[in-house]
Amino acid sequence: MSEHKDFLRTIVEEDLKAGKYNKVVTRFPPEPNGFPHIGHAKSIVINFGIARDYHGHCNLRMDDTNPTKEDTKYVEALKDAVEWLGFDFDNNVHFTSDYFPKLYDYAIELIKMGKAYVDSLDEEEIREYRGTVTEAGKRSKYAERSVEENLDLFERMKNGEFKDGEHVLRAKIDMTAANMKMRDPLLYRIRHAHHFRAGDAWSIYPMYDFAHCLADYIEGITHSICTLEFENNRDIYNWVLDTLGLGSISPRPYQHEFARLGINYTVMSKRKLLELVKGGQVSGWDDPRLPTIAGYKRRGYTPESILNFCDGIGITKANSMVDVAQLEFSIRDDLNTKVPRVLCVLDPLKVTIENYEGSEEIEATYYPHDVPKEGSRKLPFSREIYIERDDFMENPPKGYYRLTPEQPVRLKHAYIISCKEVVKDVNGNITEIKAEYHPDSRSGSDTSGIKVKSAIQWVSASEAKEVEIRLYDRLFKDEAPEGLEDINPDSLKVIKNALIEPAVITEKPDERFQFERQGYFYADPVDYTDEKPVFNKIVGLKDSWSKKKKTTTESAPKPQAKKVQIDGEVAPMTEVQEKLFNKYRADLGLNSEVANTLARDEKLSYFYAEALTVLNSPVGLANIVANDVARELKAKEASELKFSAKQIADLVKMVDDETISSKIAKQVFEEMAKSGESPTQIVESKGLVQISDPSKILPIIDEIMEKNPDNVAKFKAGNTKLLGFFVGQVLKSTGGKANPKVVNELVSEKLK
Ligand code: ATP
Ligand code: MG
Repeated sequence: MSEHKDFLRTIVEEDLKAGKYNKVVTRFPPEPNGFPHIGHAKSIVINFGIARDYHGHCNLRMDDTNPTKEDTKYVEALKDAVEWLGFDFDNNVHFTSDYFPKLYDYAIELIKMGKAYVDSLDEEEIREYRGTVTEAGKRSKYAERSVEENLDLFERMKNGEFKDGEHVLRAKIDMTAANMKMRDPLLYRIRHAHHFRAGDAWSIYPMYDFAHCLADYIEGITHSICTLEFENNRDIYNWVLDTLGLGSISPRPYQHEFARLGINYTVMSKRKLLELVKGGQVSGWDDPRLPTIAGYKRRGYTPESILNFCDGIGITKANSMVDVAQLEFSIRDDLNTKVPRVLCVLDPLKVTIENYEGSEEIEATYYPHDVPKEGSRKLPFSREIYIERDDFMENPPKGYYRLTPEQPVRLKHAYIISCKEVVKDVNGNITEIKAEYHPDSRSGSDTSGIKVKSAIQWVSASEAKEVEIRLYDRLFKDEAPEGLEDINPDSLKVIKNALIEPAVITEKPDERFQFERQGYFYADPVDYTDEKPVFNKIVGLKDSWSKKKKTTTESAPKPQAKKVQIDGEVAPMTEVQEKLFNKYRADLGLNSEVANTLARDEKLSYFYAEALTVLNSPVGLANIVANDVARELKAKEASELKFSAKQIADLVKMVDDETISSKIAKQVFEEMAKSGESPTQIVESKGLVQISDPSKILPIIDEIMEKNPDNVAKFKAGNTKLLGFFVGQVLKSTGGKANPKVVNELVSEKLK
């Protein structure tokens, strides 16, 4: 059962409680005209999930009423998607096309009741006659046809006597209805087309509005759950069932609508996806860049990550756009606790360790200690290794913490090495590093005392395996992509000659891996062979997109700093983080520690940006965000915080205008985090306003000097360090409310 009960489950529970149904029956009714996408996953999770939660049943039904676009391969893809997500359709796929004879009979019944007629207006006229939202429609003269004539024409339509579009069957409802859908909706149209299952048996095909409700009825569906765009079709749904006298038979289905899933940077309609597949912009329906279930599956997403994502976004009645970062987060989050960590070098640079002879094997665990899994492999180590090309810099900028001619680095799980010589080709490109290793620095038994700031991935030259790496990124660079012109030209980068440690290939400890410092990767299920292993990038270790859009439009200054790394295990900054870091340093004047903290943490940088829109106090805001807010955000999501960015800005503003001291600000912050009260409220109700008035502070200073004659004497004798003592005492006795600047001045004056 889902943690939070959504409105659909509330309806289902109420219906069960009221005895409306004994058993819940839902259905997932895709049209087999394309591969299912993440939007369908949402619908699958809802329909199959509700059936499972309430011990009911969910039918997988192909809504195959449009012969020109449907195909068995799509049926297979749909079955696959449902199964992969962990749901069971009892190996029983339902098809609307199986109900064609029954539907035909229902149509005859409507005709006999005088509730349906064959119309012979053409498409254009039908549209014209329908009227507009403000104007009633008018009924076609053909609506006057007799039942006999209608029956005769309808049968001949079925028998293929007319051309496409010559006639249609329409319900006779109300051409003046406010709901335009009710203005004599079409029930059948002529289509001389081969149906992938029904063959050429039919020349007429039922419309969605006629087929869907009846298919639901035939299958004994109780809750017919669809997306919001069908809201106005609900009246037809009920009209058909009621008019045919099926509406009072129990159980009868009712339609309920929920909001469609939309995701930014993503196109979701099958029509658009088909265009990409046909146009060759992607390699097929299972291209890892597509939002299809087949694409996610091939890319390496887990079913759990998709299920968690669907759970997390919830079910609502209001359409909204979900951030694709949320989906990326859910896969990262899932894999983080599951997959082995291994070493892979994407852009190899040779390192010869000149003082190392022979070879050895280093036992290295696959999982970090916070992952509750066990297992290890042997890492071959030898004189010749490869490291990542950008983990060495000859002329490093400040803040570069990896290997340089002056700076040693740790080889993950192994030794510390130092660079001795840089070998270059005639063009000045670095071709090799000659290094020495420190024998007493082996990871786990390091007695060398050498300090390093970083640990990098590496592979032993003779044992490493060559692999192909496919680096996937978002298919669209635009948040709301329109079409081909918004395609991200860098959505796929293929690296042919990456090097990976041998155990990954020989032991195959898993299909999914974290390549240390690179991201999560998956052995491509189609192209992977033992001769040519291929890995797909599933997702990076961090979101590298969140600020890309904003920062690329700004002309960020370009100081020297390239990749900044704060300690051995921390990944290098992404390009986006780096830009942000540089902007914080150069434009906003933050110190590098604070800038680093903010730039690396998306939640913090968002929060900071938001606060900055309220108050232009970059340093003050940065300090509190990087320290106090950061502490809160470690344990919580931004949405769970008791305070807003605006309130933090209000707090800092009070410090800036000296209403409160920064010490008191800390206290107010704690209170805000706990109670959710506004900072001004807290300051007011607790009387925390800063005391800056000298006439109020001087008596306190006097009192303290009186109590500490010895220290006064020492100060006057030249021990000026005692200034701090006096200031501290004053602050203490005012509960931190005295303005430190004023106190400082007054104390200095007094002790002169
Ligand atoms: P598309 O427009 O992408 O082709 P569709 O709605 O035409 O989608 P169907 O095959 O008719 O696709 O849909 C099957 C079921 O999946 C329907 O109940 C539909 O409401 C649901 N569905 C389709 N897209 C989404 C989405 N983006 N979010 C939630 N449910 C969806
Ligand atoms: Mg559709």
